Amino acid sequence: MEQNGAPENGAPAAGLPQPAKLQEVPYTKLFINNEWQRSSKGASFPTFNPATGVKICDVEEGDTADVDRAVRAARAAGRSGAPWRKMEPSARGRLLHGLADLLERDRVLLATLETMDTGKPFLQSFFIDLDGSIKTLRYYAGWADKNQGKSLPVDESFMCFTKHEPVGVCGAIIPWNFPLLMFTWKVAPALSCGNTVVVKPAEQTPLTAVHMGALIKEAGFPPGVVNIVPGFGPSAGAAIAGHMDVDKVAFTGSTEVGQLVQAAAASSNLKRTTLELGGKNACIVFADADLALAVAEAQKGAFYNQGQCCTAASRVFVEESVHDEFVRLSVESAKSIVIGDPLDPRTAHGPQIDRRQLEKILDLVASGEEDGARLECGGGTLEGGGLFFHPTIFSGVEDHMRIATEEIFGPVQCIFSFKTQQEAVQRANSTRFGLVAAVFTRRMDRALSVSSALEAGTVWVNCYNALHAQTPFGGYKMSGNGRELGEYALAEYSEVKAVTIKLRETL
Ligand code: NAP
Ligand code: MG
Repeated sequence: MEQNGAPENGAPAAGLPQPAKLQEVPYTKLFINNEWQRSSKGASFPTFNPATGVKICDVEEGDTADVDRAVRAARAAGRSGAPWRKMEPSARGRLLHGLADLLERDRVLLATLETMDTGKPFLQSFFIDLDGSIKTLRYYAGWADKNQGKSLPVDESFMCFTKHEPVGVCGAIIPWNFPLLMFTWKVAPALSCGNTVVVKPAEQTPLTAVHMGALIKEAGFPPGVVNIVPGFGPSAGAAIAGHMDVDKVAFTGSTEVGQLVQAAAASSNLKRTTLELGGKNACIVFADADLALAVAEAQKGAFYNQGQCCTAASRVFVEESVHDEFVRLSVESAKSIVIGDPLDPRTAHGPQIDRRQLEKILDLVASGEEDGARLECGGGTLEGGGLFFHPTIFSGVEDHMRIATEEIFGPVQCIFSFKTQQEAVQRANSTRFGLVAAVFTRRMDRALSVSSALEAGTVWVNCYNALHAQTPFGGYKMSGNGRELGEYALAEYSEVKAVTIKLRETL
């Protein structure tokens, strides 16, 4: 979410929020029907702290049978006549506000769990992920009694109106890069519209999602409205995507798994899908831009969350006349980023999520060097091993290179040089992806024409990663379909019913 409010890189620790000292993780089981349950096969899996490699705890492992149980609970909770369906819409809004209040109360604990599980710096969890989650819940709390239909101007012998109804049981499959935020992006609009939910968090980062179960119960949501089944993608995730009694699935993650989810939805019951997938996002910096601003924002785009963002600004096109200065300033800034223990509030850059992702980054960086791009800084892990990877900048990148075409999902910024506006836009658009893009210029006409020409669901002008609960988010092309956030997301979680009444008499 919007990054205002988060302290600068390497800020002194005095006066900053501090993480909680956790003796043990309070919740680790499946949350079904407002009860903590064991997995039907009695299995569990470990979750690790990527900063230390140490196991945090074991979490109950849900499987197909557990997803079935969760879907039955969700179906029963959403049945006509059940308390959730009879509830006045504004009361759903009050419950969502109540849940947001509990996130505010448990903010330090949730931010600590998020940082331990993901390795993201504590202040980013505390300010950005928690703020974003709380604001998303409050935003959709406000919509609960405003998602209204229309009366339609048909032939006067009929009365015709539309009604927005819940879709039913909604599955949510969540990635590991923003576990709590992605939970709220999916669950808040689903509940606002009166649906019930079955959530599968990512296997690497289940802890905050499971904790949400306790808060959902405490907030007073009826049993079965939200069910949380930690587990693995090919078992629990696939069980949701292919379930005959799930009406919609919202997924965030890789394009490859997005394709599997859509195929499973199509070949089971044709459930609706919203898919928020990968990106290879372009930033275009014109010579007339505020260069210091462009350097700072593009860098935030490339390195935020250790580069593990679908929105990562991994391709930066810089106009030839300012290219060398842009590279110089970017390298200087990248070298000053404070890397270290993510629980230390002064840290700005933590570890990558796991060994598999680190290997992928190393492989792509090696390919960049082999292909002849110039490694300006970084390019390797921190001394002493672990999953920490230096912020990395390549210049002299050419469009055909793997680092220019494949999603890296690590802190790697690729800088290209361009001569004309037309060329920059054409090269920015020459990708299968279309999630976000950015343009840096002081010229309003240029900002408008370039943002119109860019093929992306979001275009930022003179800023980056500026996300708001009010603003729709989603991709063009293979970056996905559907929109999360904003008023647009309500349609993803609503069925439209048209009611047509024959009038016996007209005057
Ligand atoms: P992923 O495999 O796409 O995982 C995302 C979610 O989908 C996880 O909850 C995962 O469960 C689940 N899943 C996996 N296989 C599934 C299946 N067959 N059916 C249903 N659900 C399934 O992503 P990843 O492995 O964590 O990361 C791989 C790459 O994906 C990254 O390098 C990056 O390029 C991309 N990625 C993108 C985003 C994004 O925000 N768009 C987020 C994360 C990753 P498990 O956790 O149990 O596998
Ligand atoms: Mg973990």
